[in-house]
Amino acid sequence: MIPPRKTRTITVRDLPIGGSAPIAVQSMAATPTCDARATLRQVRLLEQAGADLIRVAVDSERDVEGLRLVRAESDAVLSVDLQEGYRLAALVAPLVDKLRYNPGHLHHHERTKPVRDKVAFLAEMAAEHDCALRVGINAGSIAPEYAERFGSDRVGAIAACAIDHCGFLEELGFERFVVSIKDSDPNLVVEANQRFAAACPRVPVHLGVTEAGLPPDGIVKTRIAFEQLLSRGIGDTLRVSLTLPFDEKGREIEVGRELLADIEAGRFRSVPPSFFEGLNIIACPSCSRVENEKFIELAQEVQRATAHAAQQDLTIAVMGCRVNGPGETDDADLGLWCGPRQVNLKRGTETLGSFSYEEIVPRMLAELDALVRARAGA
Ligand code: SF4
Repeated sequence: MIPPRKTRTITVRDLPIGGSAPIAVQSMAATPTCDARATLRQVRLLEQAGADLIRVAVDSERDVEGLRLVRAESDAVLSVDLQEGYRLAALVAPLVDKLRYNPGHLHHHERTKPVRDKVAFLAEMAAEHDCALRVGINAGSIAPEYAERFGSDRVGAIAACAIDHCGFLEELGFERFVVSIKDSDPNLVVEANQRFAAACPRVPVHLGVTEAGLPPDGIVKTRIAFEQLLSRGIGDTLRVSLTLPFDEKGREIEVGRELLADIEAGRFRSVPPSFFEGLNIIACPSCSRVENEKFIELAQEVQRATAHAAQQDLTIAVMGCRVNGPGETDDADLGLWCGPRQVNLKRGTETLGSFSYEEIVPRMLAELDALVRARAGA
């Protein structure tokens, strides 16, 4: 049920991606990369689960040092997430097999430098150190120039951004790259990836639904997108992003392979029209930026404590860090983003305050109940 794909084949070290290559399944270490021992443990756990490719994130030179120790101890095919520090590519490219940059994070440093020049630097580092690239677009962090140009048309903004970055790289003669376009809404992921694949049919695609949240809903959301895209021949590598305790991250690989096997065999699951009705809890899958490991328990507790509001058409977002947390909770009715000791509570874009990990759930429930009452009154 997965038709032949039209994409070109690139390699990430000796792992082929695209064209007739098997669809690669990947995941990401959730630990801070500066903690080399914990990150190495995550890398091994994901390798044992059968990951073809493992991503780690770097934010600082301390993370680069952690990555250097991980590289010395592991032969895994490694990808690095450059987050906002695209200039760290010069230090990490010699240590890894693939670099991922988010076009929405390129404006944070050297604001006057043209984006094309930053992309040229990344392509140069990748070429010099035999790395592939991923243009990793996230609807939660759209590059400002596209957000401004497209306004509320988020699909238009992220698809145009992806197409432009392919153009930048191809003009530079660099073709060893994949593109991902992710969001927490699987329907948006389907629409944006279809639009992108129609415009750039030769570019290999990395599939994922980001902030899909906790199982089982996180798996269902991911399945919706993967069934629709893989069955149309779109998707050359994939990651299932789930909010899981660190020791259970290997489950992302198992679920990825289960979904692939089901789709290959034509075992599609229909989703009732009501799946998108009622309370929607989105939660980030966690990564090295998680400020406090209690984030996972917090996400689970939010799910349990809000069961009484399951019929309410509201979205609650739970995010693990201060970097993406504030922006990626803006569209939710209630947002919780974690700091090391406090959790920040938002109602839409308005910040209501920060509370300890013990206080936050009752405080959030009070806000939830007030929202529900206000809607009933209206
Ligand atoms: S919100 Fe922060 S901790 Fe969660 S996945 Fe994104 S960057 Fe990582």
